Amino acid sequence: MTGRTLTVSDLSVTFKVPTGPFTRKPLHAVDRVSFEIAPGETLGLVGESGSGKSTAGQAILQLNKPSSGKIQFGDDDLAQLSKRQMRAMRRNIQVVFQDPYSSLNPSMRILQLLEEPLKLHESLDADVRRERVFETLEMVGLRRSLAERYPHEFSGGQRQRIAIARAIISNPELVICDEPVSALDVSTQSQIINLMRDIQDKIGTSYLFIGHDLAVVRLMSTRTAVMYLGQIVETGPSAEVYERPTHPYTAALNSAIPVPDPELQRSRQRIVLSGDQPSPLDPPSGCRFRTRCPFAMEICAEVEPPDFPIPGGGVSRCHLHVEGPKLGGESVMQLIGKQDAL
Ligand code: SF4
Repeated sequence: MTGRTLTVSDLSVTFKVPTGPFTRKPLHAVDRVSFEIAPGETLGLVGESGSGKSTAGQAILQLNKPSSGKIQFGDDDLAQLSKRQMRAMRRNIQVVFQDPYSSLNPSMRILQLLEEPLKLHESLDADVRRERVFETLEMVGLRRSLAERYPHEFSGGQRQRIAIARAIISNPELVICDEPVSALDVSTQSQIINLMRDIQDKIGTSYLFIGHDLAVVRLMSTRTAVMYLGQIVETGPSAEVYERPTHPYTAALNSAIPVPDPELQRSRQRIVLSGDQPSPLDPPSGCRFRTRCPFAMEICAEVEPPDFPIPGGGVSRCHLHVEGPKLGGESVMQLIGKQDAL
């Protein structure tokens, strides 16, 4: 597989937010986050709203400037590129947003919308350019005759197909997909996911797939990283993270996913999170999840959990693996089972 690896190392994004007429406080939206995406691979980034996952995606696109850390794409350090160099780089790093309607200019026909990135990044004859638009429309399952229409003439699912067509028309190496199916109904979601997989098979692009629904992210991703309050708390192969979560937050996200079998649903172990996510302006000491964690211990308030290696090559940031029950990389679900038995 040709293409470049994206390596995000110790990335932090901090905003200064006003807390009074003359005071400002740092908000650590992303706090020392690291991950890698190999060519042709999909990494899922999952977490509640406010976890910092979209901010991390925007930092890769340089829409938010990192306050520290490095974003390396092949040999290029993205934060060091000039605006002109970054514009050229956007041919290789594209984005699909959650709301296709606001990301597509309503006054432009689909043909113009899809021609735009080609005009920006490639010098093609008008005929060749139009043919590329038609081929890309067909690749996303839309007839070439639809190229003369405007975005408002399409359904939500079709508009997201157009947004994907616009993102892939220049054969990018990486696409940041920021909640691309969250606004769609369930059957359209699965059509779009299948479409994105087919495109990946055809052109070998890699994806950063950002979402809040672990079940959807799992369908799309080979590896998954779980974010809570600006930090990654668990990473690993998607099947491991989904079936044997080693962090209580992952287990909670997991147990909130309904299963279609009512009997199985009744017998499932559940973690119900208490309270809301704390403000990133004033995160809890030690483990950031401790104010909502049913297993919090004394050490959790005092010491930030280090990375603990888990089966499959991932990591979990939770003291349970070395303190208290000493899970040693095992799933946290067995603790929930013991709680339920009491
Ligand atoms: Fe819960 Fe402590 Fe693990 Fe944090 S470190 S998730 S508070 S047990």
